[in-house]
Amino acid sequence: MLMCLAEALLRVPDAETQDRLIRDKIAGRAWESHLGHSQSLFVNASTWALMLTGQVVEIKDTSRWDFDAILRRLAARLGEPVIRQAVVRAVKLLGRHFVLGRTIEEALKEARPFVERGYRFSFDMLGEAAVTRGHAARYLERYREAVRAIAAAWPSRTGSLFERPGISVKLTALHPRFDFVKRREVMVELIPPLTRLCAEARAANLAVTIDAEEAERLDLMLDIFEALGEEDPLQGWEGLGIAVQAYQKRALPVVRWLIDLARRQQRIIPVRLVKGAYWDSEIKRGQELGLSDYPVFTRKLGTDTSYLACARALLAAPEQIFPQFATHNAHTLAAMESFAGTNRKFEFQRLYGMGEALYEFYEDGRAGAGTRIYAPVGSHEDLLAYLVRRLLENGANTSFVNRLANDKAPLEDMIADPVVRLAAVTSKRNPRIAKPQDIFPGRRNSSGLLLSDPATSSRILLAMQRALDGAPATSHPIIGGVERIRLEKPVLDPANRRREVGRASEAVEEDVRAALDIAVAAQLGWDRQGGSARAGILERAADLFEERRALLMGLIVREAGRTVPNALSEVREAVDFLRYYAKEARTHFQGAALLPGITGESNSLALRGRGVFACIAPWNFPLSIFTGQVAGALAAGNAVLAKPAEQTPLIAAAAIRLLHEAGVPGEVLHLVPGDGARIGKIMFADPRLLGVVFTGSTETAALINRSLAARDGPIPALIAETGGLNAMIVDSTALPEQVAKDVMVSAFDSAGQRCSSLRVLFLQEDVATRMLDQILGAMDELKLGDPFALATDIGPIIDEEARGNLAAHAERMTKEGKLLKKLPLTDPLLADGVFFPPHAFAIQTMGELRREVFGPILHVVRFEGDRLDAVCDAINAAGYGLTLGLHSRIDETAEFIRERIRVGNIYVNRNQIGAVVEAQPFGGERLSGTGPKAGGPHYLARFAVERSFTVNSAAAGGNASLLTLDEP
Ligand code: FAD
Repeated sequence: MLMCLAEALLRVPDAETQDRLIRDKIAGRAWESHLGHSQSLFVNASTWALMLTGQVVEIKDTSRWDFDAILRRLAARLGEPVIRQAVVRAVKLLGRHFVLGRTIEEALKEARPFVERGYRFSFDMLGEAAVTRGHAARYLERYREAVRAIAAAWPSRTGSLFERPGISVKLTALHPRFDFVKRREVMVELIPPLTRLCAEARAANLAVTIDAEEAERLDLMLDIFEALGEEDPLQGWEGLGIAVQAYQKRALPVVRWLIDLARRQQRIIPVRLVKGAYWDSEIKRGQELGLSDYPVFTRKLGTDTSYLACARALLAAPEQIFPQFATHNAHTLAAMESFAGTNRKFEFQRLYGMGEALYEFYEDGRAGAGTRIYAPVGSHEDLLAYLVRRLLENGANTSFVNRLANDKAPLEDMIADPVVRLAAVTSKRNPRIAKPQDIFPGRRNSSGLLLSDPATSSRILLAMQRALDGAPATSHPIIGGVERIRLEKPVLDPANRRREVGRASEAVEEDVRAALDIAVAAQLGWDRQGGSARAGILERAADLFEERRALLMGLIVREAGRTVPNALSEVREAVDFLRYYAKEARTHFQGAALLPGITGESNSLALRGRGVFACIAPWNFPLSIFTGQVAGALAAGNAVLAKPAEQTPLIAAAAIRLLHEAGVPGEVLHLVPGDGARIGKIMFADPRLLGVVFTGSTETAALINRSLAARDGPIPALIAETGGLNAMIVDSTALPEQVAKDVMVSAFDSAGQRCSSLRVLFLQEDVATRMLDQILGAMDELKLGDPFALATDIGPIIDEEARGNLAAHAERMTKEGKLLKKLPLTDPLLADGVFFPPHAFAIQTMGELRREVFGPILHVVRFEGDRLDAVCDAINAAGYGLTLGLHSRIDETAEFIRERIRVGNIYVNRNQIGAVVEAQPFGGERLSGTGPKAGGPHYLARFAVERSFTVNSAAAGGNASLLTLDEP
């Protein structure tokens, strides 16, 4: 995409990479040209830039500018260096269009002619959301400097505050973890410096507006806003304002809350009403989280109507609110004017570089309300994210400015009343945007929870605690549907070894044999039920899992030490496995598929269960992988002996009980908890066991393989998902903030105890130092602690043995002088738990690691930009093949890596964990597993046998179907 090239060009340090980027974009796929209005802006700027670089450009018919063709032609004629200069200059020109100045001093100078024409200003210091404390502090300092500079430029402190200039601040840039789950520390750490900044602004009679960001941050933003207004130096101050996004369904309640707050704080609150800048990402996020619905409207008409409703409410409270209507939409502006009537106690706002003509027209000789220009200030490196948002906004099909530039857009549509148009449409929601639960064809998506919503998170935490406090958790062998209590032992919480989570007993030999006997007898009946009947039962189980989510999550957190968000995604994944395999069973295991063949004969092929399967699950996904294996085997028509990890029997028992409750017969599904080697020895030696599905270490998979091979009788199927020595490659075109965020999640989420976790990070030498600065800084923000607390990022290690292995590895690496960073482990509250802090080590080559290190330990290797092939070879040579992350803006690089690297799952420009059932089938190759992929379309077939059925339909004496055939 166009901006991607521009963005990368401005970021990458060397000309050679820049030229590769250009070649990549030009030779590769066609330019996406949906940027509409922005595209012509860009082409305009590029043309100017080319002229400035001394090139004459032959473009005759400007109405049919095709950026793709222009670039191709220019590249052929002029070569990449010229294009490089031109694109960089074009972006700079564009930057100048949307950004008032590179420094506040420059911006103040540029602002002067506008001020003389009566415009007001709000200055915004551009910057990405901070991921380190250092960056947040630097950003705050820039604001303080800006306040001083603006105060100096507007020395007279008199005049209404609502007419004075001000600044606009983004809270995500001022704190590295501006998330609701971090509320307590954000409140403590952010309010004092923010109060100082506002107090300085107050002293200079300058206003401060808090920009609105993602919907998930709204509650925290409102908390901060309320608290600031109560700080001593800011009490009663009317300069502290806030932006409200009309596209949020909560907009009107937020407006009402602000009116009430103004009453309580006895001041007028300036409220900037906007439609909102993150609509597309809100829709994506809603789907990702599996929310019951989106936080934003899905029809543009909904947003426009909400804007009008909020505007009316704001205008109706002149004693509490100073409304600031930010829009470039002429209809919205006209509506505001008509709502306000003779009232002039409000203002309009526009972004610098947008809506000039509209506001020039509005200001021209009218006794209008004042107009404020929101003026971004920043260097070219900082402007990109902002620029991309502006260009997308300009180019969006629904955008007023884009439609205005489009001669074909009907005028009557553009000026029609949104309320009337919305009333006229039957579906108030956009039928083209499916609800998050309906995005997968043929099955319901698992439902998620918005943990950043305090009402939701407090409810689920309470429900989890209640479920744990209720009946004590137990796990015993469940054979033929009957629980057999054996020698009970306590199950202890890895976050606090003094806390008993429940009691469990292990299966004895007699239990395993009995389970096999019963399972063999019951399997045929289960298989005969057919895929549809089994699907119905699995879907009921999925519903039950969601109903009892609090209990399952509570057990996952306490027994496996996983954090609350991890526990939630586990339940979701388990539910997705159940529903997806149910769908697959319906499609492929009901009846037989007809096959082509000669006339007078019918041929069909049916998939049936193999027999009895052993499902052996790991502790790191005690619910989702456990359930996925069992559901896969059951869906295909097998009977199952499920053996959970020794560390997590309670969760497994809870899952098995729910599956039984849903209708899986006790004779078909058995729980045989206990020591893997002991239970395995009994199961694997029995020739009636016809399949094993295993997830765990590569070594154990090899042992199982050998045991199965050693026995006589039918050769069973083995499906093994094993470990990985997973790498992430970051080249010089990557975005450092995004890399840092994705590395944190990939390497340290779940305390690095995921088979997909990042172990070796390859950083291109040219940018390695800058990237590492962000990565190591972001590590400082990770919080180890009780996984039940929402603020915890990293919970415990599963047991002492695992911690011992990690400690030994870290000690060796540290002795070799490779330590880059180790987080301290000083919290006395963690003393009773099995915690191990995140570490980062610098290594020279991947070969220094011989096996998977299963925990929060990251290894960093630097590589030269021209040695990408060597990096791929090194990753392949490690022998594993599970996940790989890539951060690069060059498609050619992504393709190069895709072709070369032999791993099961590649993730580009995102983190590399958390595969989604059906969307990202998961599993590795070589040392990482046998395949097929869990949650993928080929999984169930591996649990099945194939039976073909051929009938000579002519045997009765003739071929009736042939003889009755009509001639066309
Ligand atoms: P219109 O074309 O009338 O509206 C476009 C808006 O409609 C889109 O931005 C989108 O939000 C919404 N939309 C598009 N399609 C749909 C759909 N299918 N369903 C529902 N809604 C849809 N935004 C912030 O988020 N935070 C801020 O702090 C912020 N500050 C701003 C400050 C100023 C001075 C200005 C002018 C805008 C600010 N914005 C902010 C708003 C934002 O960036 C856009 O400029 C604004 O949404 C465009 O609205 P419009 O009325 O000019 O255009």
